[in-house]
Amino acid sequence: MRNGKQQTKRNAHATLDQGSAIPRWQPARDGLLHLVSGATARQRRYHSRPVDGNRPVIIFGAHPDDAALGAGGLAAIMTRQSLPVIIVTATTGALGGNPVLRKAEDSNSARILGAELLSGKLRDGHLSLHGAIRLVESVIKEFNPEVILAPYEDDTHQDHRNLALAVASVARRVPNLLYYEGPTSRDFFPSVVVDISAVWQQKWDAIVAHASQMSRTNLLFWTDFISKCRAWPRYCGSRCEGFRLAHGDLLSLARVFSATQYEVPPVIGMVDIAEAHHGN
Ligand SMILES: [Zn+2]
Repeated sequence: MRNGKQQTKRNAHATLDQGSAIPRWQPARDGLLHLVSGATARQRRYHSRPVDGNRPVIIFGAHPDDAALGAGGLAAIMTRQSLPVIIVTATTGALGGNPVLRKAEDSNSARILGAELLSGKLRDGHLSLHGAIRLVESVIKEFNPEVILAPYEDDTHQDHRNLALAVASVARRVPNLLYYEGPTSRDFFPSVVVDISAVWQQKWDAIVAHASQMSRTNLLFWTDFISKCRAWPRYCGSRCEGFRLAHGDLLSLARVFSATQYEVPPVIGMVDIAEAHHGN
């Protein structure tokens, strides 16, 4: 905990404005909306709750490799901008190997991404909703995060599902909540697509760091496949990560994801309606 706090304080000067223009939205030909540079005054007023970058981004994972698999690229993008990122691994990962070894691998993986790591002691395979709620509550109370990332709630693994439900309950008052994708996610349709081409090697290395998992799972195949799958239909970079926005200030978040591209049909549709109403 202490290390996480120190890192957060060290990066307290960081702002999300670094090196990125204020974005604006414009309709895309496919009916979705893509992020481009520049914003109208009205759009700035509408999104009046900026992400200030002084509070950390927390990535919750049920198991030691979850955060790197689902959001390793985004984590690397944010830490390259000196934003404080903390990975919280809820269980020991004991069903997948020696927990001491897995914790060491997780720590190395987080270091490659430039993130801090907090390791929980919940039971792998038996992550209870209430246990997860207590863990998430304590982390939010300790670090007061601006952005939270969590596993997607529709998942065939019970630990991922319960962690997602716990975060959804506890993080209601956290300004921004995004779900990330994993190998066992079901019916995952991203609303935010982030180009991670520039940090691809970093993400790859962070997954390879979970060396004990390489022989028993096919994590590298999934990582390679899904990164291309999310990129190809959108022509935005060669590697992408997909996220679903549960709630938050997307325009402000966009500054975190600078030099990336987005497609957010429902949320920005609301912005357009509000502006049309103002115009009349
Ligand atoms: Zn997992």
